[in-house]
Amino acid sequence: MSNPNSAFPGTAPAAETEGCSTEQRAEIDLCLVRHGYNNYLSNIVVNVACGLGLYAEFYITGHNSALVTALIVGLLVLSLGRVLAGRSDIQRLQAVDTPPSDVARGARRYFLGMSAGVALWGTLLHLALQSGNDNLKYFAIIVVSAMASGATGVIAPLLKSGRVYISGLLIVIIAELQLQPEPQHVLSLLVATFWGVMLVTHGRNHNILRNSIELQMRNRSLVDDLRVQQEALTEFNATLEDRVKRRTSDLKRLAERDSLTQLYNRRGIIQWVEDQRPRIPEGHAFAVIFIDLDRFKQINDGMGHATGDCTLAEIGQRLAEAAPDLCAFCRWGGDEFVGLLAAPEDRCADIGHEFTAQLRAIVQRPVNFSNREVSVGFSAGLAVCRPHPVAVSEAIRSADLAAGEIKRTGRGNTLLYSQDLVAEQERTLIIAQRLKHALASEEMHLAFQPLVCSDDFSVHSYEVLLRWDNPILGRISPEEFIPIAEDIGEIVNIGEFVLDTALATYTEELGRASHIRLALNISLRQLVVPGFAEFILGYLDKYDLPPCMLILEVTETIIDARNQDAIIGVLNDLHSLGIEIHIDDFGTGYSSLSRLHEMPISALKIDKSFVQQIDDQRCAIIEGSVMIAERFGVHTVAEGVETLEQARLLHAIGVTYLQGYLFGKPVEHFAEVTVDSDFLIWSQDKQSKAS
Ligand code: C2E
Ligand code: CA
Ligand code: CA
Repeated sequence: MSNPNSAFPGTAPAAETEGCSTEQRAEIDLCLVRHGYNNYLSNIVVNVACGLGLYAEFYITGHNSALVTALIVGLLVLSLGRVLAGRSDIQRLQAVDTPPSDVARGARRYFLGMSAGVALWGTLLHLALQSGNDNLKYFAIIVVSAMASGATGVIAPLLKSGRVYISGLLIVIIAELQLQPEPQHVLSLLVATFWGVMLVTHGRNHNILRNSIELQMRNRSLVDDLRVQQEALTEFNATLEDRVKRRTSDLKRLAERDSLTQLYNRRGIIQWVEDQRPRIPEGHAFAVIFIDLDRFKQINDGMGHATGDCTLAEIGQRLAEAAPDLCAFCRWGGDEFVGLLAAPEDRCADIGHEFTAQLRAIVQRPVNFSNREVSVGFSAGLAVCRPHPVAVSEAIRSADLAAGEIKRTGRGNTLLYSQDLVAEQERTLIIAQRLKHALASEEMHLAFQPLVCSDDFSVHSYEVLLRWDNPILGRISPEEFIPIAEDIGEIVNIGEFVLDTALATYTEELGRASHIRLALNISLRQLVVPGFAEFILGYLDKYDLPPCMLILEVTETIIDARNQDAIIGVLNDLHSLGIEIHIDDFGTGYSSLSRLHEMPISALKIDKSFVQQIDDQRCAIIEGSVMIAERFGVHTVAEGVETLEQARLLHAIGVTYLQGYLFGKPVEHFAEVTVDSDFLIWSQDKQSKAS
């Protein structure tokens, strides 16, 4: 029985096919029809051979007739027609994309040809079995049974055609045996059994074939699926690899670049060294330049962080543009940058210096904002090292130290790192630590040094000078520890100690009624502490001393200091109380004198460096200072006077007061001056007589 689901008359889906999609079923049908046509010729050949054999038997047994001949001719014509029609069917079925309509057509024509054949054979059988000749009869039965049996295999691909063929042939035999004058029941039963067995065998063969096709198809689709998956996997891996690569490079960039300036960051510059190592020529080293912007905090505080960021970004870009081959820059942090430049080892330091000078010019060019302009200088430290990441890391630290040193001692310059610098900085660190305990441990005391009037050598005042004796470090010069105390802020406490102790000693040794003044050295850092004037006044009150006994020596740096208005305010307050202000170390600071007249100054104190080795040039500076002082209506003091000759010359130039070892070294008490002015006059006379 044909399955109702079958699309084609010649085929029928087996149970297994039920899980298949419509396309798969169509393909199975196509394969079955193709298989059917593969056996097509054998089926025709068997038909023709059997037909001719039966015809011969008709002839031999003498039952040949015109009808028989016509039937045999019909069979031959049909076979020829099937061969011819089959060729085009086979061609169509072999095409790559056979449409279902062609498959259906192929199956239909097979079925029709087969059915027509069965009709002819049925008639021939009828004639043979009705002939009454046993030979012919059994010959026909055997031949047709053999054909039916062969059909179980040959027509296995086409279920319906096969069933029609087998059934058509065998039913005729059974019917004819029953229609005999003496019906042959046993033989009929036998043929009927044979028919049943043939149908079952044919059905099984068909199923085996269908299953094998389906299996083949499944295997193929499995292989296809695998291939697709393999391709997808390969593609996925490729894109994954690509994505990983891109992501890695993004991450690398993020990890190695500074987001504001796009320069390398700390990690990036070391990686750069690692990457460039193979490219660095033999005998080359790195000049490591540590750049620390000067007064960048002022830009940030005064103009806002956005302006600060823009300035940093602009400087970063300028540095990057200035970098030649084998040179890179990184933002080390805040307002610090590091540059590395490969150069021949023997000239590396010089090249580094030259390059830093170029960078300075580039960085200093004004940065323009919509309504203002900013110009930034820098302090730089320089170090030279092997082109190796570890050496570079160390050299960056060294260059940083050198830059720090430059920043402390005068900004805007470049310092080459040296071993001495390390020793110096280590000492600075130790001093800073010990300074914090110096007062509590009573390691500090004061010394007093007289200032005399230049014409009669009478004592005008005493300068208070601080002394520090540390049990481990020994005596440390105030020139060394005062700047450190200023740096760490300790100067405020120290200043208070000096003021308190000096006033106490003064009261004790000279008495409240003394006309001799007391000169205190005051750091800028002390001056800007709010309420400084009140603070001084408080101590004067404490010892019941008049403000006019006090002189405050401040250095020239106050003229260039940032908070000018506040400083001038404090100085005015002090001055109005009667306290004198002297400018210390005058002539060493290269400060602009234009603002000097705004300050309530009583004297300029010419630095001892001009006094001690008086030559023409230094003499001119002293004379100039005296002229300036006269112009401003203030006195002059010369410090560091060690010889009578110096004293005489300074007196002749017109310096008002003198201070120096000639008149007394700084000692713990208010010592008397031993040189008298008669000696000066005597020596002057002697010299004028000699000339
Ligand atoms: P300064 O104020 O210029 O002090 C003068 C320095 O010259 C003192 O050195 C003094 O001892 C030295 N001196 C005086 N006469 C002569 C001389 O004839 N020949 C030579 N060669 N030197 C002479 P000192 O005491 O070492 O002080 C150095 C600096 O330390 C001072 O320079 C001052 O700036 C600072 N200083 C000292 N004591 C204090 C203080 O209590 N507070 C502050 N803020 N600074 C102080
Ligand atoms: Ca002084
Ligand atoms: Ca001085």
